[in-house]
Amino acid sequence: MTKKCQSCGKAFEASRNDAKYCSDTCKTKHYQQRQKKKAEVEKVQARQDQRDQNIKNQVVKIEQENASIKSQITWSENEISRLENENRKLVFEIKAQEKSRSQIDRIIRADDGHICRNFLDKKPYYDISLSRSLPDPYFLYKKEIDDFKRGKTKRT
Ligand SMILES: [Zn+2]
Repeated sequence: MTKKCQSCGKAFEASRNDAKYCSDTCKTKHYQQRQKKKAEVEKVQARQDQRDQNIKNQVVKIEQENASIKSQITWSENEISRLENENRKLVFEIKAQEKSRSQIDRIIRADDGHICRNFLDKKPYYDISLSRSLPDPYFLYKKEIDDFKRGKTKRT
């Protein structure tokens, strides 16, 4: 029967039904071509795999950088809120001092100004710069005024 060679494409007279090539040379040539094509496909595949791996590595690197930046931002937010709290505390302290000051002024006006001013002159709790670690000056004066009224302290 007449068949078409799968390697060179020429028609040939086949002795068997499953013959594909006109000669052993064409059979070998076709096998080699197939091997060559297979090797090329594998080469392209390997290159593609390498490219995929590079992209994956870059993604990992970017994610690591993002995490690092995120942690830095978190640190800044913590730092900012710490400073804000400190600031709020200072404002509160200053307001408390101002309140104490006005309370003392009220006591001086309401009570014997002379006595109170003498206490103030002797113990300068009034000074805002000294009062950070001291107790509320109002209560100190109140105690001393009360002590004075009870006769524990002598008028100077
Ligand atoms: Zn052939």
